[in-house]
Amino acid sequence: MILTRCNRTIKPQQSSRASADAVPAYGRDCRRNYLEEKIMAIREIREMGDDILTKQCKKVTKMTFRTKLLITDMLETMYEKNGVGLAAPQVGVLKQIVVIDVGDGPIILINPEIVETSGEQTGEEGCLSVPGKWGIVTRPNYAKVRALNQDMVPIEVEGEGLLARAFCHEIDHLHGELYVNKTQDGLHDVSYEPEDETEE
Ligand code: ZN
Repeated sequence: MILTRCNRTIKPQQSSRASADAVPAYGRDCRRNYLEEKIMAIREIREMGDDILTKQCKKVTKMTFRTKLLITDMLETMYEKNGVGLAAPQVGVLKQIVVIDVGDGPIILINPEIVETSGEQTGEEGCLSVPGKWGIVTRPNYAKVRALNQDMVPIEVEGEGLLARAFCHEIDHLHGELYVNKTQDGLHDVSYEPEDETEE
């Protein structure tokens, strides 16, 4: 998932711990430092129209070196492209793996399932696989996810606001679903406005 990168930054409808930290996430020092410490391995993002984005992903049954590398590459690709989430099929791998960072550090979810939701939020959503577009999507305002972490240990994570939205968006990818089919009034073009250089 990506936030629209114009001056019309996504403002989650309801305040929450996750969204309060998440909105100004790009360019944060933590992300930059993370990238500098790694050897870049940016993977090509598959875009809408590519069949792979419509397919069901397979569960991960064991952690291999190859899968670890995939996760590292997914994180690097997400940060490089200024996304707040990325699912394995978006880099051409039909495995149930997502990475998310809404500004509070990376979350890695293997075989994730949403086990609880509540509330509702309606707001802008974008996707690295649908560049230059955004749409209005209604999602739960809270979501709890059961998954495995990168050590294949069962975990439960919960989020509100932007993080709940990211859970829903990324887990949809694992089942071949794109947000474009859930928008209220179709897709809009992202209008890039010049950044104010004097802004602090
Ligand atoms: Zn997406």
